[in-house]
Amino acid sequence: MNEPTRLTYEQLAPIVAALYRREKAALAGAGFLLPPFPDCPTCGQSPTELRTGGDHPAHFLEDRIGFGFRPCGHTFTAHGEDLYRAYEHARMEAP
Ligand SMILES: [Zn+2]
Repeated sequence: MNEPTRLTYEQLAPIVAALYRREKAALAGAGFLLPPFPDCPTCGQSPTELRTGGDHPAHFLEDRIGFGFRPCGHTFTAHGEDLYRAYEHARMEAP
């Protein structure tokens, strides 16, 4: 299994923004009309599934969160603080 790629804040922000839009649409009852997942930063493929957390327990101690894109299988980690900042940013930007 490949080592996950570390995302910088600049790489993380658009992913978090896309996830936030999806979550918001889901809460509003969008069902199958959800906005798409963000493209994989490595290969540009549009994922059918994006898993977060859990996969890399070793990173838990340094406050890193894992992302796994499926089906391409690329994995990434992001710093917990960057994730929080990106989420707050997405929340402020959203209409
Ligand atoms: Zn990929």
